[in-house]
Amino acid sequence: MPQDREIAIDVRDAVKRYGTFAALKRISLTIRDNEFFTLLGPSGCGKTTLLRMIAGFEDVTEGAIYLYGEALDTLPPYKRPVNTVFQNYALFPHMNVLENVGFGLEMLGKSKAEARARAGEALEMVQLSQFASRKPSQLSGGQQQRVALARALAPRPRVLLLDEPLSALDLKLRKSMQVELKHLQRETGITFIFVTHDQEEALTMSDRIAVMSEGELQQLGEAREIYERPRNVFVADFIGDTNLMEVTVDKVSGGRAQCHLGGGHSLTCDAVDGVEAGARVHMSLRPERLFLSAQPAEPGSLPGTVRETIYIGTDIATIVDLEDGPQFTVRSSNSTRGNARVFEPGQNVAVNMETGAARLLAD
Ligand code: ATP
Repeated sequence: MPQDREIAIDVRDAVKRYGTFAALKRISLTIRDNEFFTLLGPSGCGKTTLLRMIAGFEDVTEGAIYLYGEALDTLPPYKRPVNTVFQNYALFPHMNVLENVGFGLEMLGKSKAEARARAGEALEMVQLSQFASRKPSQLSGGQQQRVALARALAPRPRVLLLDEPLSALDLKLRKSMQVELKHLQRETGITFIFVTHDQEEALTMSDRIAVMSEGELQQLGEAREIYERPRNVFVADFIGDTNLMEVTVDKVSGGRAQCHLGGGHSLTCDAVDGVEAGARVHMSLRPERLFLSAQPAEPGSLPGTVRETIYIGTDIATIVDLEDGPQFTVRSSNSTRGNARVFEPGQNVAVNMETGAARLLAD
C-alpha cells in the first residue's frame, strides 16, 4: 500500500458522547484514497458510531473529521461524496431492480434517462444486468444485497461506507461476496470503509484494519501486521487463535528475553520495549507457528503430553499439557503433502516453535 496516497478521511481526536457515556474516546486515524479499510471490533466497541459520524448521520462531540481536506460539518450531506450500504438492504418492494437502483439518482436531480443509464452501469458492475426487471422478492438474499450495493455505487461516490453488509448471508455466500467486494473495490478505485465484528472477514478483505475496543483504537495496520505483530493482549486474543499466557521475565539481554512459563519450563523470545527482569507479562504463540516432535525434547523445545487431538478438516489441532505448566494448542495442516505427524492422546511429545513464534505483549 503506497504511503503517499491522498487522504480520504482524516479523523482527528474524535469523541462521541451520548449523555455521559463515551461511545468513542478520542480516536485519530486516517483512511487513504482508494483503500479497503476495515473497522473491526466486538459488539458495542463504537465502529458503527464512527461510521455514522463519517457519513454525517451523527455529529462529533469533540474533535473533527475531514473528508478530502474539508471539515465534514461544513459540507451539507448532499455535497458529501459518500454513500452507505446498510446491513438490511431496505429495497422498495414495489419497484423493480433497475428502478430501485436509479431511484436515488432521480432524487439527486438526475434526469430519468441519466438515472436509468447509471443504474444500468451499476447493475453491470455487480453482475445483475439480467435481473433488471425483477422485483426484489424474486431475488435471493445475496442478489438483493448486490442490488443494494449497486444502488450505493450508482451515484459514483468517492467513499463507500459498508455497515456489516454481509451479516445476513449464509457462510458460503458471505465468502463469495467477500471476494466480489474486494474485486469491486479494486476495479472502481472507490475508498471502501467496511464495518465488521468478524476478524476472518477483515483479514480476507482489507488493505488496512483498525481494531477497536470500548471506544478506543487498539491497533491500526495491514492485515498481516495485525495478525503477526499484535500490539497488545486484546488484539492478539481477538484476531485469530492464540496461546495466550502470563510469563515471568527471568533475563533480558541483547534484545532477547528469557521467560519462565511455570513448571520449570522456559523459552527465549524477542524482548519488547520497557520489559525488565522480574516483570510479569503476557506472551502470545500462534498455534500454527508451533509443531510437535517425539520426545526427547531438543534444547529450546518443551516436553509435554498430548491431551486431545482434534480433526478440523483443513487442520489438525493437538492440545498438549506441559508437565506442571501451561497448556498449548498446536495446529498443523491436514495436507497429504505435509509431513506433520499426528500424535495420540497420552503420548509424550515435544512442542517446538518456529523462529519469532513467541511474542511478548504490552497489556
Ligand atoms: P455492533 O457490532 O453491535 O453494531 P458497534 O461496535 O457498532 O456494535 P456502536 O453501535 O457504535 O457499536 O455503539 C457503541 C456504544 O454506543 C454502545 O455501547 C451503544 O450502546 C452506544 N450507543 C450507540 N448509539 C447510541 C445512542 N443513540 N444513545 C446512547 N448510546 C448509544
